[in-house]
This record gives sequence, C-alpha cells and structure tokens, in this order.
Amino acid sequence: MAQNSSRPAGRHFLQIPGPTPVPDRVLRAIDRPVIDHRGPEFAKMAKTALEGIKTIFKTANPVIIYTATGTGAWEGALVNTLSPGDRVLMVETGQFATLWKKMAEKFGLKAEFIQTDWRTGTDPALIEAHLRKDTNKEIKAVCVVHNETSTGCSSPIPAIRKAIDAAGHPALFMVDTISSLASTDYRHDEWGVDVAVGGAQKGLMMPPGMSFNAVSPKALEAYKTSKLPKSFFDWEDMINMNKVGFFPYTPATLMLSGLVEGIAMLHEEGLDNVFARHDRLAEAVRRAVTHWGLEILCRDPKYYSSTVTAILLPEGHNADAFRTLALEHFNISYGASFGPYAGKYFRIGHLGDTNDATIIGALAATEMALSLAGVPHKKGGVQVAMDYLITAHSAPVRVAAE
Ligand code: PLP
Repeated sequence: MAQNSSRPAGRHFLQIPGPTPVPDRVLRAIDRPVIDHRGPEFAKMAKTALEGIKTIFKTANPVIIYTATGTGAWEGALVNTLSPGDRVLMVETGQFATLWKKMAEKFGLKAEFIQTDWRTGTDPALIEAHLRKDTNKEIKAVCVVHNETSTGCSSPIPAIRKAIDAAGHPALFMVDTISSLASTDYRHDEWGVDVAVGGAQKGLMMPPGMSFNAVSPKALEAYKTSKLPKSFFDWEDMINMNKVGFFPYTPATLMLSGLVEGIAMLHEEGLDNVFARHDRLAEAVRRAVTHWGLEILCRDPKYYSSTVTAILLPEGHNADAFRTLALEHFNISYGASFGPYAGKYFRIGHLGDTNDATIIGALAATEMALSLAGVPHKKGGVQVAMDYLITAHSAPVRVAAE
C-alpha cells in the first residue's frame, strides 16, 4: 500500500498456496438463504455434492465430507483404520508430513519417519526398501503427502503404489491430496490408494472449513477392526446417513452449495485443462525465478509441484521481511517458510481459480519487491515468463470439457 494510505486499493493478490481466491460463482452459490438440513431440497443437493466429489477423486467408492479443515480429514484417515500401537510409515517431506506424523503419535501410533532434507519428494525406492525389512508385515499404513505445500515438492503416487506392491506388503496406502486435488491429476481407484485426505480451500476453490476422506473397500474392511476412538470423524455413521442425503449432524449446508458449484466449474473447464493450466502457470513461475538467479527449494525437477513454488532468498535476506515489504507496497501475500528453512524462503501459490494474467501480475509484483528489498537478482524474469506463456498459448492443447 502507498506509504501514507490506510486502504490497499485494488484486489489483493492472494498468492498463498491455499486458501485460494474463491470465484464469484462459488461465493454466489454460498450466498443464499439457509435451508433445512433434514429436508428434501438439502438431500438432493447433498447427493449431488457426494456424487460430484467422487468425480474429482476419480473414485466409485464413498467419499466422506467433513465439516472440518484438512487436519480433521487427517484424523479421520487414521482413527477409522488403525489401532493403538500400530506401526505406520511416513515420509518427512516437510511441515505437513511432520504435522501428520505428530498427530499419529498423539494417537499412540508408532510412526517410522523416512527423513529427507525437505528439498525433495518421496523416493519410492526408500519406501520399498523399508517395507521389505518388515518381514512380519507389521506396518499397517504408508502415509504420503502428494504435494508438500510447505516446500513445493510433489511425490509420485503411482510409483509409490508400485513400490508397496513390489515389496509384497499389505499396508494401507494413505495419501494427503490437500494441495494437489483438483489442480493436478489424482486417480484414487486407478492408483490403488486406500484413504485420500482432501481439503476444499485449494483446488476446489472454496473457503476453508471442509475436508474429505476418499476410501477404498480395503480401508472399509480395516475400519471394522480399528480400535482408535472415533466419534465426530466416524466413517460408518456418515456413510449410512449419506445414503439418504443426510449427515449425522448439522453439516455446513451453504458450503455444500458452494462445493457443488466449484465442482461444476471444474468440469466445465475440463479436468485435464485444469491440470494443464496449473502445469503451465507453474512452469512460468519457475522460469522467472530461474532467470532472477534465485534458487527453487525443490532440488530435483522431477518432484516440482504444479501448485506452489518455494523460492530461497540469498544469505543475509530474510524471507519474512521480504513478505512484509511486498504486502505493504504491492498488496500481495506469499506463503511463509517452515522448519529448518524458517525465514529463508517464500512461496508463490499458483493454484485454484487463477490464470496467466494473474500470475504475470504476481511475478511483476515480486520482481518489484525484490528490487525494493535490495535482493540481488537479474531483471527481466517477468518477460521470460511472458515469453513462455505466449509460446504455450501459440500451440494450446485443449481437450473438450466433460
Ligand atoms: N496437508 C497439506 C498438504 C496442507 O497443505 C495443509 C494445509 O495447508 C494441511 C494438510 C492441513 O490442512 P488445514 O490447514 O486445512 O487443516
């Protein structure tokens, strides 16, 4: 904002990797009179939402919709399938994997944590090697974050499935899709995932406060013998009530209305087009960053995220101070840094209802902020990103909407 002004003019550039900007259509869908959550109108809408969300997870099996943030769906995944003392294999890809592991420990699970330096995704070979050592097949679940929002590194879910199978291991496969779902490809059934954890506030373009568990028949079998206490997050009550379009408690009625609209918008664009748009915008951001001469936190291009890019600032430049400066001058918010890299990087989110012009605007604000903050960089990153987008638009690959 200009130095002496108390109101930042224009639209805020919300470039955090979720919650993402909520499109007007979704806002209008939420902005309606409250309806009876035990009435026929609600049941019809809830069934549409419950069927619609299956098309996003690409599953024919039940998807549970929680009135809770993603953290609640993490809990749902664990308590519905596991028992105290169970061993689970997790991978320290970053802040969110670490939080999920801490939650597992709070529930009395024995988490085995494959360590990384937070600059890479999950190496399937490490999963396979770990599982092969478990000759008594005691590990009950392998839990992986598909897209580690804190670092901008993604993990190859189909290859991890293959690794579990190659080790001949019966563990459940659980995947956190919170910042990948509806932005990059995710195929619950085809990829053989047992429990997926999802959130509404990223690719689904909704406000925060709603989350999901997609569950496989194997996960539903595990439910029958799991002994961790569960009440609010209990799958059985939900699945039974959902069959007739209701919930065991008062659901977030208006949020469900927004969800139906968000899903409709994704299908109008076509999921493959949505994924291609995210890939394109991510590549534009990376090209600008590379031109600036700054380092992308994710070390290996094969793990690059299509929804968020974490950018390291050179030694002597504090990333939190940089974010504050950019917010004050250019009305733009970036994601913060965590763990061993706290204060060292900032994150540009490029997911949800966004487009080329918005991302170019965000990159321009970033390039100006780098100059103002005195961060050494080579000017012209925005031009490089524009050149890339022009080329990408010259030969667009668009598939028909669903
Ligand atoms: N997992 C991932 C990958 C996330 O990005 C987040 C939040 O951003 C969470 C879990 C936690 O979700 P929530 O903050 O909605 O509880």
